[in-house]
Amino acid sequence: MGLSMRLLNKVTLITGGARGMGATAAQLFAKEGAKVVIGDVLEEEGIEIAKRIKSIGGQCIFTYLDVTNPDDWEHAVRLTVSTFGSVDVLVNNAGILIREDLDNVTLEGWDKVLDVNAKGVLWGCKSVVPEMRKIGGGSIVNISSISGIVGLGYPAYNASKGAVRSMTKNLACLHAGDNIRVNSIHPGIIRTDMMKNDPHAQEDWQNLIPLGRLGESIEVAYGALYMASDESSFVTGSELVIDGGWTSQ
Ligand code: NAD
Repeated sequence: MGLSMRLLNKVTLITGGARGMGATAAQLFAKEGAKVVIGDVLEEEGIEIAKRIKSIGGQCIFTYLDVTNPDDWEHAVRLTVSTFGSVDVLVNNAGILIREDLDNVTLEGWDKVLDVNAKGVLWGCKSVVPEMRKIGGGSIVNISSISGIVGLGYPAYNASKGAVRSMTKNLACLHAGDNIRVNSIHPGIIRTDMMKNDPHAQEDWQNLIPLGRLGESIEVAYGALYMASDESSFVTGSELVIDGGWTSQ
């Protein structure tokens, strides 16, 4: 444990941390000295990641958290504070993708996607801000998507990720006075379970991405690490695109 750790003692709540990018971020953050709480609906996987982090000397607990449920949020924040003393960082990473285009979109699909991806982020922010105020500030990192910037995707997914992008800027302005920074990250196509069953072949994506390959979870986690840490102390309301050049075309 060197003093140069980038997140030393930062208490961090990460949603959707049981697998994919959230799990990678949880492990990276713990290695950088953060005290991590993983909140997810996948209990077995989440407990496993927490165990793995503890086995290498990191600090981590898992809690069941459905980000659409305000009671779960209240419990998760209370548990974080009672276990580690505060909430310094929130990474709103939990998200779902339902592949319904305009012809096939259902009210149920729309509601589900907006519930998890947009309402979940709003409620997460609402739940941690009072705790961050108590300690004089904090950092919130919202995982949006390039689908929050350009049209690639599906209508409900794009709407939800666009909501995350603009909500981030609203909260950044509203809570700058509380010294709470709020930023969004916009990953391109990243190799996780979410993309595993995508109807497009991996080669299709590779041909569309200037860097010629899909991204890896760790490449997004490093962006989240920067936004979470004090290294980004003058950065708020900002959007970090991690997409191998996709949106530059
Ligand atoms: P993933 O499906 O591998 O992981 C998502 C995690 O969120 C899972 O552990 C899942 O259980 C959890 N989750 C889902 N609904 C939840 C809920 N209601 N409450 C709590 N947890 C819930 O996906 P991923 O690729 O790691 O995605 C992470 C984030 O990145 C998502 O917000 C996603 O939209 C976004 N994203 C992914 C890509 C990509 O190409 N994979 C690109 C851009 C943005």
